[in-house]
Formats: sequence, C-alpha cells, structure tokens
Amino acid sequence: MAIRKTIVRTESLSTDRVHGYFDDDIVTCPICTNILSKPVTCKTCENSFCLKCIRLWLNEKPNSCPFNCHFQERKPPPILIKLLSKLKLNCQYNLNGCTILIPYEALEKHELHECLFRLTQCSNCSKEMLYNELEDHQNNDCLPKQLTCLICDTMYYQKEGHEYIDCLQKQVQIMDAASRSPGKKPPSQHPFVKRLRLLHAREQTNENYAQRI
Ligand SMILES: [Zn+2]
Ligand SMILES: [Zn+2]
Ligand SMILES: [Zn+2]
Ligand SMILES: [Zn+2]
Ligand SMILES: [Zn+2]
Repeated sequence: MAIRKTIVRTESLSTDRVHGYFDDDIVTCPICTNILSKPVTCKTCENSFCLKCIRLWLNEKPNSCPFNCHFQERKPPPILIKLLSKLKLNCQYNLNGCTILIPYEALEKHELHECLFRLTQCSNCSKEMLYNELEDHQNNDCLPKQLTCLICDTMYYQKEGHEYIDCLQKQVQIMDAASRSPGKKPPSQHPFVKRLRLLHAREQTNENYAQRI
C-alpha cells in the first residue's frame, strides 16, 4: 500500500501562494485580503472584490459598497485583468506534492481537472484519495462497497444497485421455501403472499414486454 500523505485543501487565493512581485493594493480583495477571485468592480468607487465576497456582503447590506458608496456592479477594468493574468501561483495541492507554478487564469482548470495531486473519489468504493493513487488503489486494494437488502437479505454491490424486480423475486423464493419446509404452516394463502405473487407476475410481464421492444 502507498504511504498516505495528508490531504490538504487551501482553496482561497492567499497572497503567499503568489510567486514573485505583485501590486498588493490592486490585485487583492479588500474584504478577504486574498488575491481577487472572479473579480467584480463597484461602478462608483472603482474598487474590486471577489464575486463571492461581495455577494456575501450585499446579502447583509443590500446595495451598499464596503467603501460606503452605492454599489453598482460593473466589469473589472482591463488593467486589473492584465495584472491578474501576470500572476503565477502555487497549486492548492502544493502540500500534497504538486510543485508546479500555474498562471492565474489556468489555476481553476488545473486544480479541478489536471492536478495529479488533487482529491478524488474512487467510483467503486467511494473512498477519497489523491488522483495519482487511484490507479494503484483500483488495481490492488479496492474493495467495492457491499450492501445488504433489509427486505430480502440479498448482498449486492452499491455500484450495481439492487433492482426492485430482483428483490421481489427473492421474496417470493423465500416465501415458497418457507411454505415447503415441513412443520410450518404454508404461508401461501396469506394475503401478503398473494399480493407479492401478483406484483411479481406484473413485474415479470413488464420486463418481458420491455425486452421485446
Ligand atoms: Zn475576497
Ligand atoms: Zn464603491
Ligand atoms: Zn496541482
Ligand atoms: Zn476503491
Ligand atoms: Zn431486496
């Protein structure tokens, strides 16, 4: 088994993730003090904020800008976009082992889809792990999650599921077996069993019907 590393997430664009010089006053958000993320600008005072930060702020104080003017949203000025695009940042999975520097605009795509050290979930067993451990895990120590149906006692893989028709069939089998075993009252005349048989028959007909199409 691979040695497990601590799984770390630092989603915020904190300024210590930036490599090299940057203009603190322009590229940071006055609310969270991190590098601006999806910036929007106040039309009145021309200050820019992260989209998330200003949304939260406006929820509390509708129409009011953190700089005490009337907030009206506009697109950020081109100079800000240009300055942001020059930034190079550490990957949020840096502490997991990703050492590359990523341009501001490519960061989201890298962290969501490309980083080999990103968090991912095994589709067989739902275990969380680093992306670069997935293949080894699936080849060597993945145990698909098994569940047991509380009604018919069947064990099945979570990934494959347990079909309603299979469940009914199993229930009818159990009832039949019980009715044939000596010393027990045949339950086949019980209204519940009759109803089950009826349901079972109907499901089968539907299934055959579906197969014919
Ligand atoms: Zn912010
Ligand atoms: Zn303002
Ligand atoms: Zn990365
Ligand atoms: Zn697995
Ligand atoms: Zn079942």
